[in-house]
Amino acid sequence: MSVRTKIIAGNWKMNKTIEESLELVKQIHYGLNWPGEVDVIVAPPFTAIREVASFLKDSYIHVAVQNIHWEDKGAFTGEISAPMAKNAGADFAIVGHSERRKYFGETDEIINKKIKAGLRNSLIPIVCVGETLEERDAGKVEEVIKTQIEGCLNGLSSEDVSKIVIAYEPVWAIGTGKTASPQQAEEVHAQIRSIVERKFGENVSNSLKILYGGSVTPSTSKELMAQENIDGALVGGASLKAQDFIEIIKSANIIK
Ligand code: PGA
Repeated sequence: MSVRTKIIAGNWKMNKTIEESLELVKQIHYGLNWPGEVDVIVAPPFTAIREVASFLKDSYIHVAVQNIHWEDKGAFTGEISAPMAKNAGADFAIVGHSERRKYFGETDEIINKKIKAGLRNSLIPIVCVGETLEERDAGKVEEVIKTQIEGCLNGLSSEDVSKIVIAYEPVWAIGTGKTASPQQAEEVHAQIRSIVERKFGENVSNSLKILYGGSVTPSTSKELMAQENIDGALVGGASLKAQDFIEIIKSANIIK
């Protein structure tokens, strides 16, 4: 049996002003009965990170940034670096989200550089991988995931990989209301764990946290969270509603 503490992370995407972000995080913070046994993370937009993080200073809830640049500073107009995100109050960084891959051309090579930027600046990378519907229909799930994992983790040491979190997010399930079945998700999570085991060893793969993402709701989360290789969730839409997010957190845990 694993002893991996579950993580529930809310990805707010391009939603919420500073005021709205504070309102949402307060609802989550006060709505939860701490301490719980789940690590909770919220990923507000860049503009609200500082305010949200300072509100959460003494809370159990952590803050993630939704994206970082691979360089620490320089002439990259419009970008935000890992040291800046860290300075604003983030402890985690989502990298390689499928929306970044799709709309902003991020490749495994770019994501690999972003993971390294996160690690060098003490931001824990939450690395997203996942297949499209065409790839699933063509029976290529394992191949696609393997390529993504190997590309994203290229050149990292076992120690580096022991610090990261992986999120399996089938592209066809994101924002579509089509959640992968617990069996479909578990199958891929187990594959991810064995890909990591082959490259980085059993100790790393046993402790690796692999989150599921894609239309997770309070009604689907319980069964997903019960799977052996599912260590939490990366939640988009449902994380914008405090009550739904709290229910998802509770489904991953025994909140005392
Ligand atoms: P969703 O998004 O929960 O709205 O499907 C998940 C994600 O993109 O991380």
